[in-house]
Amino acid sequence: MRHRIIVLGAGYTGAIAAGRLAKRLRREDVAITLVNAEPDFVERVRMHQLAAGQDLKPRPLSEMFAGTGVEPRLAKVTGVDVDRKTVAVIDANGAEELAYDTLVYALGSGWNAQGVPGTAEHAYEIAGRPGALRLRERLARLDAGQTVVVVGGGLTGLEAATEIAEAHPDLDVALAARGGLGDWLSPKGREHLWTVFGKLGITVHEHAAVTGVEADRVATADGKAIPAAVTVWTTGFAVHPIAKATALEGTGTGQIVVDATMRSVSHPDVYAVGDAARVMGPGDKPLRMSCASGTPTAWRAADAIAARLTGGKLPNAPIRYFNQCISLGRKEGLIQYVTADDRAVQAVLTGRLAAVYKELVCKGAAWGVVNPTLGLPTRRRRVTRERAAAGSAAKALA
Ligand SMILES: Cc1cc2nc3c(=O)[nH]c(=O)nc-3n(C[C@H](O)[C@H](O)[C@H](O)COP(=O)(O)OP(=O)(O)OC[C@H]3O[C@@H](n4cnc5c(N)ncnc54)[C@H](O)[C@@H]3O)c2cc1C
Repeated sequence: MRHRIIVLGAGYTGAIAAGRLAKRLRREDVAITLVNAEPDFVERVRMHQLAAGQDLKPRPLSEMFAGTGVEPRLAKVTGVDVDRKTVAVIDANGAEELAYDTLVYALGSGWNAQGVPGTAEHAYEIAGRPGALRLRERLARLDAGQTVVVVGGGLTGLEAATEIAEAHPDLDVALAARGGLGDWLSPKGREHLWTVFGKLGITVHEHAAVTGVEADRVATADGKAIPAAVTVWTTGFAVHPIAKATALEGTGTGQIVVDATMRSVSHPDVYAVGDAARVMGPGDKPLRMSCASGTPTAWRAADAIAARLTGGKLPNAPIRYFNQCISLGRKEGLIQYVTADDRAVQAVLTGRLAAVYKELVCKGAAWGVVNPTLGLPTRRRRVTRERAAAGSAAKALA
């Protein structure tokens, strides 16, 4: 019987983990199923572009994984039973249970309304494709001069505000940030942000903690009201509640706690990667939810699973940050170089060169999904029956 590996979620990290496992393990020894709710791979890092009106290249999972040894399965995951080692899914044919020997949990995250009143009813979000398409359609119907307020001064907020302002110069775009604009960046990085925001005519509301959203305005903690025909909510991401409903050890926010090999600290048959995983990075700080740090977690999980099944060496290359790549519309960008633990250093790259750099990073991220070993030669190894069984035994003893 083949060792059954189920990967939940075909975003950047799930798709990479599945593809990399298929490159490392002999096909006759493993059955790798990649479950995803949507038929396409979605370039989540481009959702602000989609919302602003650009069209993205369709990437059907069935084509991406044809002939790879990974079996894509179009279904929505509704639950995981880590004791019975099953996943509950629902698709067009109804509900079903899938049994696994090894599970890779990569369901990513969605938007985080943070319990602010009115967000669910009135705000738009761009954490996934349905939200981005809904905003796109709304923006196209606005009249010249109407105000779009982007709430959140993090990377997603900066990218969304500039993209919308560039694509819709007739609209009045504003950004509401809890702190100062780009206050974590280097002085040069901040200066460049102000220059680009000025050129695009974006109004900046600094130190504006938004406490409520209504149909035509947002309210701030200091009692102000900012007019908003459309409010775009970008204040961080929240993981889906599925993991929290399991016996897996998790954080209060629902991320799965994993060790250095991305293996659940409570259930050795389960691995978690990307936004869904709580991974400690350099400086003993948890990695932030990002494609930049999620991709190495997928490499590491796949390599660790393959090593444990075949008797190879466990991976231990450090996961670190190099830069924060921020698009500021299609013509401008900001590459902020950072320390290993993500703190800004003096060096930045700005202007058109930075825009090109960021575009190459996005293209590279999608390329990396179809080239999960980065084009390097790799050998598929035999799974030994004893090692495949060892995972289950470890579980029984745990
Ligand atoms: C607008 C925007 C810009 C960003 N820009 C950057 C950037 O420049 N750099 C960077 O590093 N990061 C960026 N990010 C963050 C980055 O996109 C995420 O951190 C990354 O996508 C996480 O990867 P993941 O594989 O964990 O999850 P995801 O990419 O979210 O993939 C999760 C997958 O699981 C599927 N799924 C979810 N629930 C279910 C279910 N119940 N059943 C079945 N399938 C399900 C989803 O459809 C999806 O395919 C950006 C995010 C946004 C929204």
